[in-house]
Amino acid sequence: MCYAIPGKLIKIENNVATIDYYGEKKRALIGFTNAKEGDYVCAQGGILVTRIPEKEALETLDAWEELFFELKKIDKNLADKRRDIKSVPGEFLRIMEKANRRLELTRDELKLILGTRDKDELNLLFNTANSIRQREHDNSSCVHGIIEFSNYCDRNCLYCGIRNSRDIDRYRMSEEEIVSAADYAVKKLNFKALVLQSGEDPWYSDEKLAAIVTRIKEMGVLIFLSIGERDQRTYKRLFDAGARAVLLRFETSNEKLFEKLRPARKLEDRLGLIRYLKELGFLVATGFLAGLPGEISDDVINNIILTKELGADMYSFGAFIPVENTPLERHELISKEEVLKITAVSRIVDKKANVLVSTSFETLDKSARKEALLAGANSLMINVTPPSYRALYRIYDRRDDAYKAENEIKDVTDLLFSLGRAPIDLGI
Ligand code: SAH
Repeated sequence: MCYAIPGKLIKIENNVATIDYYGEKKRALIGFTNAKEGDYVCAQGGILVTRIPEKEALETLDAWEELFFELKKIDKNLADKRRDIKSVPGEFLRIMEKANRRLELTRDELKLILGTRDKDELNLLFNTANSIRQREHDNSSCVHGIIEFSNYCDRNCLYCGIRNSRDIDRYRMSEEEIVSAADYAVKKLNFKALVLQSGEDPWYSDEKLAAIVTRIKEMGVLIFLSIGERDQRTYKRLFDAGARAVLLRFETSNEKLFEKLRPARKLEDRLGLIRYLKELGFLVATGFLAGLPGEISDDVINNIILTKELGADMYSFGAFIPVENTPLERHELISKEEVLKITAVSRIVDKKANVLVSTSFETLDKSARKEALLAGANSLMINVTPPSYRALYRIYDRRDDAYKAENEIKDVTDLLFSLGRAPIDLGI
């Protein structure tokens, strides 16, 4: 089961496939598959990643059918909760109605929403975002796996736990180890999309990375690169080798703050790279760190608006978690409510995009995942780094390092089902 229900390819037109899931139609790019009309296929992020033998697909579809329609009902009922909220004062209610009618909100309106701390207003905001998500994406959701393959990093970012001047145990996974972790995630755990993440580590030459991507692509999976600021040439080579998505946050839209937090780096270079990657045809997951020291309230709005301007296919904003033995270790942690507001406002600003619940937000609060999914988010990530390396990838300190991917998959599946979400591709 899990992570992508197959659908039947019913039409191909201009490289775009129409896929039928129990009568519901979604569209996806053909990708590398040589799928034909009538085939059963799996898509991720709006790209076909693999063909599924008919017998296997029909078995899966059969097993899912009843649940599929049941889940839709659960999701719809939760989204309809919005109607129950009446006790919210005029201006806030007016703005929420405007958002609900899909009208674009002004900067001042966004500011007002992000400023609220009132419980009823927050409920209305989260429910409105959830309702927009449900109307726009139905109950589709995606779950990606992430392999953290090296914690060596050339950079010395003030916020980051793997900055090069921090004294931690370092590791690099070999090509074989990375490919075998991916193989396990795809064949045993059924992932259809994998993020390959590391510090900025030039030990992995273009050749090495291309060889890894080429082998993992063969498994029929969408590959996300999360390797930081590498040359355009590197990314182009990896696109040609078969990677089709990137996860590269701009971290903050505030230029001064960016330069302070990322010594010797320029915001415009990072943005230039993100724009280049979008143009090349990568699906782009980008965003920022929420709760960085020195931010002002306008920065949060600017961050969300910049994510949209960059054409993010997926919004990925992390909750900044202060890390011991880094310059920002004493900074106050952002609250769950603030991150939920950012989640909901992102959904309102960008109805079509995917909104990810970041793993750092999940670390911040046990109920974060569920609450974010009910405030406009529709994507999750599960760590599939081999257990021996997990505890060493210390971008920030996590509580769950001993937790096995299999257990997390069960937790996530149970949660998604309890909220009525189904793992079918969101389409394009
Ligand atoms: N080196 C790559 C990818 C690894 S870092 C890059 O620069 O893109 C992945 C993400 O971890 C970063 O984009 C940053 O937003 C996030 N991160 C770093 N330190 C963090 C912290 N202390 N708390 C939460 N997220 C953090």
